[in-house]
Amino acid sequence: MDLFFTEQQAQTLTHPAMGTVMTHQSYGENSEDCLTTIRMEIERLEAMLSRFRPHSDISRINQNAGCNAVTINDETMQILLAAQQTANTWTQAFDITITPLVNLWRTAAASQTPPARKAIQEAMQLVDHQDLRLHPACNQAGLRKTGQCLDLGGIAKGYAANRLRDCWCAFNIHSAFSNLGGNVIAHGCKPDGSPWRIGIQHPRMEQHLLGAVTIENEAVVTSGDYQRYFIGKDGQRYHHIIDPQTGRPSRSDLISVTVITPDAMLADTLSTLLFISGMYKGVEILKNYPECEAILVDQNLKTYISKGLCDRFTPTSCTQSTVLNPHGVFSI
Ligand code: ADP
Ligand code: MG
Repeated sequence: MDLFFTEQQAQTLTHPAMGTVMTHQSYGENSEDCLTTIRMEIERLEAMLSRFRPHSDISRINQNAGCNAVTINDETMQILLAAQQTANTWTQAFDITITPLVNLWRTAAASQTPPARKAIQEAMQLVDHQDLRLHPACNQAGLRKTGQCLDLGGIAKGYAANRLRDCWCAFNIHSAFSNLGGNVIAHGCKPDGSPWRIGIQHPRMEQHLLGAVTIENEAVVTSGDYQRYFIGKDGQRYHHIIDPQTGRPSRSDLISVTVITPDAMLADTLSTLLFISGMYKGVEILKNYPECEAILVDQNLKTYISKGLCDRFTPTSCTQSTVLNPHGVFSI
């Protein structure tokens, strides 16, 4: 009985990484060692992938933009190939060369003033995923034009979440859960055998949830306009997901997109892609990913869930009781 009780105790670890705060929760023997390894693994990935670490693969590509290709880690290459594939398949939405625009809008957020039109146009000249040249055979990558710059903000946490799964398996952990700053990944189910229940943040009511979804061995990733934003003098909301077609924070009809699927990197990429693409195109895109479930919230706070979530998503009472927020279901 004592042993049983001990096994149910969660070991937790909270730490800052990748520009956010991460929390990991692990059950069973080896949890402490596993969490130590997880901390080191996240640090290793950040050192490899962050554009804010001067020696990372990504920084070296950025520093050599317009000059030469550089040799990168095999893992970095896999992430870049995945990002390129998404950009090639669903053009002009998800683009990791978006950085000049991201930087422009970060400065704008500091002064709460949108950038000048000319500055946006100039930055847009540098955004083109086709200028990222990848040579997987020799693990080399380079950017064509000086000033071009990669940012893995829309995909790296998803990759990191996938790697946590390897850590849990290596330590023979059967029940664990991590929150990588909004990117959630669950390993197995809860120690009592029931599925994990993940709360989805309401995009307009800070202290409230939109609902909760049950998951096992899956990732839940949300992209929304409500976490990093400023309201301009014109009353408009300027957030951190940039539409490469306009050079401005995306203004599709969606304000929050959650993707649920076992592959956390796919969930991360798709949530950003669908958010920019909007409801109509987003649903079309989703048809190509039968392994993905989604929760889409439009500007009127109307919430749409994919068919597979009918028995797994429970809206909160605050969401249900508001006439403006009826829950529809779309078929994919
Ligand atoms: P979060 O980082 O808040 O979890 P996302 O996964 O949607 O949200 O990623 C947003 C981040 O991705 C931005 O902070 C930026 O670094 C990067 N980004 C912004 N616009 C794009 C875009 N069009 N394509 C790819 N990455 C983007
Ligand atoms: Mg993303």
